[in-house]
Amino acid sequence: MNYQNILDYGNNILSLNNIKTSQLDCELILSNILNKTREEILINLNAKVDQKQIEKFNFYLSKRKKKEPIAYVLGYKHFWKHKFLVDKSVLIPRPETEQIVEEALKFIPTNHSKMVLDIGTGSGCIIISILKERSKCKAIALDISFKALKIAKTNAKLHHLENKIKFINIDIDKFETSKYDLILSNPPYIKNVDYNRLDDDVRCFEPKLALYGGLDGYGELKKIIKKSSKLLKDNGKLIIEIGANQ
Ligand code: GLN
Repeated sequence: MNYQNILDYGNNILSLNNIKTSQLDCELILSNILNKTREEILINLNAKVDQKQIEKFNFYLSKRKKKEPIAYVLGYKHFWKHKFLVDKSVLIPRPETEQIVEEALKFIPTNHSKMVLDIGTGSGCIIISILKERSKCKAIALDISFKALKIAKTNAKLHHLENKIKFINIDIDKFETSKYDLILSNPPYIKNVDYNRLDDDVRCFEPKLALYGGLDGYGELKKIIKKSSKLLKDNGKLIIEIGANQ
């Protein structure tokens, strides 16, 4: 079997299971197994795969077939300029959330040292991306999920930031420590009716805790905005992600 054959085979199985991104997902799976870029694969379609690689491909395929998001299947997701480890205990970083990073970088001039608070850090993607570009800053990152914090800590280590970010397992309601130049958050803000209508990939696999914002979707948003008024220094800034219709 060559690269082309295994991609066609996988693509066919995923399409039959109504996976819209079947071709891309198969390329990502193969790229992960062979430890080659998608480009390297696509210009070498006649190269052969061995039995072990086929077995691995089938293993990943069986997970994706059941709608498990490709990021969980592979165990990582790219966000901003870096790769982040993810598992089912954290939200998969979304491209739209990169806007928080963009706005934060505008607010922090290069070489300035600011104290940043990340509320609901999840995989840690936001705060890690920012600290990679602003080496003088330090941060506190909170999450109510202990399991999520474990992933965030691992990501901080992978990006050599373990000494710059302190991770705390606490609800923002109970957090009273210190004052911050900048507060960031991508909180759960999806309201009840919308949550029930989410795609299966999201609703059945990603943590409800990271997505669901209560009946009207405003519960966590209100909590964070209120608390930020106490935790921000004068002229500090809160950057928060909200839903398109909120
Ligand atoms: N801060 C993380 C992210 O943006 C997690 C957010 C969340 O769990 N709601 O991906």
